[in-house]
Amino acid sequence: MRQNKMILPTLREVPKEAEITSHRLMLRAGLIRQLASGIYTYLPLGLRVLKKAEQIVREEMERAGAQELLFSALQPAELWHQTGRWDDYGPELVRLHDRHDRDFVLGPTHEEVITTLVKQEVSSYKKLPINLFQIQTKYRDERRPRFGVMRAREFVMKDAYSFHTSWDDLDVTYKAMYEAYNNIFTRLGLFFRPVEANAGAIGGEGENHEFMAMAEVGEDTIAVCSHCEYAANLEKAEAAGHEAAGLQPSEEIAATEKLHTQDIKTIDQLVESLSLEASRFLKTIVYLADGEPVVAVVRGDHDVNETKLKDLVAATTLELANDTTIERTLNAPVGFIGPVGLTGVKIIVDREAAQVTAGITGANERDYHITNVVIGRDYTPDQVADIRNVIEGDRCPNCAEGSLEFHRGIECGHIFKLGTKYSAKIGATYLDENQKSQEMIMGCYGIGISRCLAAIIEQNNDESGIIWPIAVAPFHVHVIPVNVKDAEQVAIAENLYRRLQAQGIDVLLDDRDERPGVKFKDSDLIGLPLRITVGKRASEGIVEFKVRKTGESVELSVEKAFEEVT
Ligand code: ATP
Ligand code: MG
Ligand code: MG
Ligand code: MG
Repeated sequence: MRQNKMILPTLREVPKEAEITSHRLMLRAGLIRQLASGIYTYLPLGLRVLKKAEQIVREEMERAGAQELLFSALQPAELWHQTGRWDDYGPELVRLHDRHDRDFVLGPTHEEVITTLVKQEVSSYKKLPINLFQIQTKYRDERRPRFGVMRAREFVMKDAYSFHTSWDDLDVTYKAMYEAYNNIFTRLGLFFRPVEANAGAIGGEGENHEFMAMAEVGEDTIAVCSHCEYAANLEKAEAAGHEAAGLQPSEEIAATEKLHTQDIKTIDQLVESLSLEASRFLKTIVYLADGEPVVAVVRGDHDVNETKLKDLVAATTLELANDTTIERTLNAPVGFIGPVGLTGVKIIVDREAAQVTAGITGANERDYHITNVVIGRDYTPDQVADIRNVIEGDRCPNCAEGSLEFHRGIECGHIFKLGTKYSAKIGATYLDENQKSQEMIMGCYGIGISRCLAAIIEQNNDESGIIWPIAVAPFHVHVIPVNVKDAEQVAIAENLYRRLQAQGIDVLLDDRDERPGVKFKDSDLIGLPLRITVGKRASEGIVEFKVRKTGESVELSVEKAFEEVT
């Protein structure tokens, strides 16, 4: 492609709205532009990367025996009523209404739709197992879209769903998907780790794993054992840690009750009411040590009802069982009145200081921010140490020998054993060998392809820009005639451009009439793996050949440079 005519708007300035490297670079290198919060346009360069990543995913899925199909993004609400997720999914679900007064959703995921399809089209055990996938745009009205395409409201996902006659059979496909995911993320050039995880809104009864790209900006925390192979999402590690330590995490109770009708006087009552509040609006996780609550966290992943919060905080004058009066401490009264970024309530019970702190969380600051509670970000170092000691212990829950180390990661993929959660509700059954009707056993497998782009950049960049891994690079080679008014330079560059293209190599030709400094800066920013500069020594048939990743550069004959690339 010729750069002169291409929509490739690079930016010198660092965009103010972008908080993390990958977001800044995606804007600066002209890969994406924002249309609205969490909604992005892929410009030609960005789209090329997206398509290459999609193709890698497609190849590995097909190699693992999955078949591609394509569902509509628009789904009738009836299906979501059938599974109960119309109510359970909460405000993240984008709901629409048509002119005939019918409800629809824009799919955040496709379990309902695929289970319905398979119910209609597959009725015999002879057709099972089957594994179907699509690459499609998903919609989630995220409470806090941020970091560019990393947490968007419209994004590209590969989702696959498998159907089985037994858990053992599911296990075979699950393992195949696990392998396929390892291949995919390796080919995408990511440094990643599969970790044990919790199921989230997709749900299901069986094991599940997340594939985490390791990065400081990741919103997830991963616990990794120093001694054995154990690696888990923090929440999962905590639950395992509780079990190993004989502690008992309370259940998340799915009931809504009005807090202001309750007379809260003790921590127990507070904890109790928080648990009751764990509806679709708030999730409460209460940790009990020796039967006593030590930390209660209310997470506001979804919308928060402000009246309830106000009442809750008004009620937090507490007395401990031993009659010590606890003073109410509000950390963030402001975030509450002005509901900007309001995300939840945090209660920290410090038994030594006999103090209860209730903070309404608003701004994105330590002690105030609570969405996706992350130890290390949302607590002071002392609190982190306390929580780790009390809640997690420092022993690995798997081998009990090593200690857990904590890293940050970006969830790029997630695989689940669903069991019959959806098939039971939708009625997806098959006839077995004895003509007996059985519910299908399901697995599901997601990859956030557009999020992977951000993760790849997060792991592959330097101060000058992106450093694309070859497999997803928008072009393999950047050919740059330094001075387009120099006929000799242009002739050599054009010739290289054509010959490389004829070899099936993706080439970007910088045929712009720009100063050399501008061309080189843009080239580093865009970050194609190889660069051939046709400059001063063009008349001698000598060009500069440069590797973006190492910065190594050598002068070569045109022929040699051509051979190096091909
Ligand atoms: P998260 O915990 O980051 O909100 P999730 O667990 O809700 O993600 P899944 O339901 O497991 O996401 O969806 C499968 C994959 O889709 C995720 O592993 C992730 O890579 C991607 N994904 C989910 N939400 C988004 C989003 N808002 N923007 C971009 N990609 C996303
Ligand atoms: Mg989510
Ligand atoms: Mg998740
Ligand atoms: Mg997930």
